[in-house]
Amino acid sequence: MDQIKIGQFIAQKRKACGFTQRQLADILNISDKTVSKWERGNGLPEVSLMLPLCKALQINVNELLSGEDLTDANYKQKAEENMMDFAREREESKKKIILAAVVSVMALVAGFTLMLLTKKLEMAQWLRIVLIVIALLEIICGIGVACALDLNAGTYECRKCGKRFVPTAGAYVNAPHTITTRRLKCPHCGKVSYCKKRLTH
Ligand SMILES: [Zn+2]
Repeated sequence: MDQIKIGQFIAQKRKACGFTQRQLADILNISDKTVSKWERGNGLPEVSLMLPLCKALQINVNELLSGEDLTDANYKQKAEENMMDFAREREESKKKIILAAVVSVMALVAGFTLMLLTKKLEMAQWLRIVLIVIALLEIICGIGVACALDLNAGTYECRKCGKRFVPTAGAYVNAPHTITTRRLKCPHCGKVSYCKKRLTH
């Protein structure tokens, strides 16, 4: 999906309807920063906002995702393309999460193995310290890479309002979590809850 094109289309339709970014944001109950972000091609509207957005702009979801007005002739083909794009995005998110898990497990195993070796083997003190530092770096990098990949894959769903969002890196790292949920503050309703991890935007 071409985010720049979709963004320009949203801006064009918004202006055609005579809305400011602020007015459109108010209709959708979101911040005008979010509208501005979409229009700059910096992220797509969440699924839960797509229908209300389309209604406000008097377009359909297929046109929104295509970033252009559609005729009866190209409607069906565009719908199929958009559907495949969605499926692909979901698949890539899944791959990223699996990769994140593999990378973190590998880094942790390597790090702890190295730690164990420094204890078991006879070696000079300086070498032992160097190896421990390397092992620690390995563990920290592994966790960091895993977090970055996991953060970029999919979104979190607010328990209170049901809307989805991507947390900031800071909020993500500091949040208490289980395997599938994370305690985050929702940017839409401002409430804190154990948000569910979702694979799509
Ligand atoms: Zn919420």
